[in-house]
Amino acid sequence: MTTILETRSLCYSYGDGTKALKDVCISLQEGKKVALVGPNGAGKSTLMLMFNGILRPSEGEVLFRGRPMSYDAASLRSIRRAVGMVFQNSDDQLFAPTVFQDVAFGPTNLGYAAEKVSRYVGFALQYVGLSGYERRPPHHLSGGEKKRVAIAGILAMEPDVMILDEPTSNLDPASSEEIMEMLDELNYGGKTLIISTHDVDLAYRWADEVILMKEGSVVRRGTGQEVFGDAELIKGARLKLPLVVELYQELAGRGIAQRSAPPKNILELCDLLGPKSRTEEWGRIYICNVDEVDEKQVVEVLQTIPAGFRGAMGNSAKAMAERCGISMDFTYGVIDKCILKALLGKNCIIMTSGGMVDHIIQRIRDYGQESGARIEAISLLKCTEILK
Ligand code: ADP
Repeated sequence: MTTILETRSLCYSYGDGTKALKDVCISLQEGKKVALVGPNGAGKSTLMLMFNGILRPSEGEVLFRGRPMSYDAASLRSIRRAVGMVFQNSDDQLFAPTVFQDVAFGPTNLGYAAEKVSRYVGFALQYVGLSGYERRPPHHLSGGEKKRVAIAGILAMEPDVMILDEPTSNLDPASSEEIMEMLDELNYGGKTLIISTHDVDLAYRWADEVILMKEGSVVRRGTGQEVFGDAELIKGARLKLPLVVELYQELAGRGIAQRSAPPKNILELCDLLGPKSRTEEWGRIYICNVDEVDEKQVVEVLQTIPAGFRGAMGNSAKAMAERCGISMDFTYGVIDKCILKALLGKNCIIMTSGGMVDHIIQRIRDYGQESGARIEAISLLKCTEILK
């Protein structure tokens, strides 16, 4: 595994003498999803600002791809392209009169030609599901849309790492889930993601690695199960346990559920409680790649496939469903929800775009191997073949 960001004995004091970071030594691996958690004032935002050179260490150093960061103008431009930062409050980030100008700011500053800037802006807006919003003023958009514009502004610079300070704060549950799904999609595409959050449920189920900070120091790092499995530690950090962990601990205390580590999600919790798998018939999960079909074909596929539940993963699939006027049963947590339905013998279809198909199949196969449930994942590689 490649270390992409590293801090060595990193200390930072603000001008008024507040010691915000004390001897922080961490290394982050490329391609991982990392969540920084901890109470207010723990130093999460300060650490994030260190990662893209907005703040400069008082002591110690930050390394990007093994090289200590330099703080001259050219080095800072290069690090801020490679490590993009999305601020907690979108209004702090969005300032241009139109969405296009806002997203174009980064690539224009990198010196790209106008045609290239337009192409990158178009791609980034399409990715975040906001094609057609180019002329709108950002301050008239909803909170979720503003967050997407801010993310597009970073994406347009093709960063290796994206840092998001409290990406779901002030968003309604559906917008939060959509943002997190989008981050998942970016991660499948190879981006390293670092978020800070107070939402322990989100950190627990989303992150590959959780870093718990308190009073400027890292007090524990590990998988969600390792960090949140320690109830005393979590309480000491003024956080609460993720609901699934709390429920598991209650059930384990009553002798109803036993396992060495808490379950990662509702699916695993259900498996702990019920029979591992049904012996009768499992449902099938069909996967339709929307990159390969037009609206008419999608409608035909959905009419032909005997699926009781429909899910859309990723913005292209959600946009396609909207264009087709098709309502979806699941738009977030789609794979697990479809597995839960398949365990009850129901068929599902997941609409998604190219890069996600293999991931979905793998996840369903992994679950099948762990649980013994024989849920078939059927990729409609060419959706149209089903129509023949
Ligand atoms: P978190 O993101 O975990 O809430 P921060 O990194 O924002 O923590 O803050 C860490 C510490 O630094 C806190 O004690 C906070 O009050 C202090 N701090 C943050 N920003 C400033 C600032 N601009 N000036 C002085 N102190 C600050």
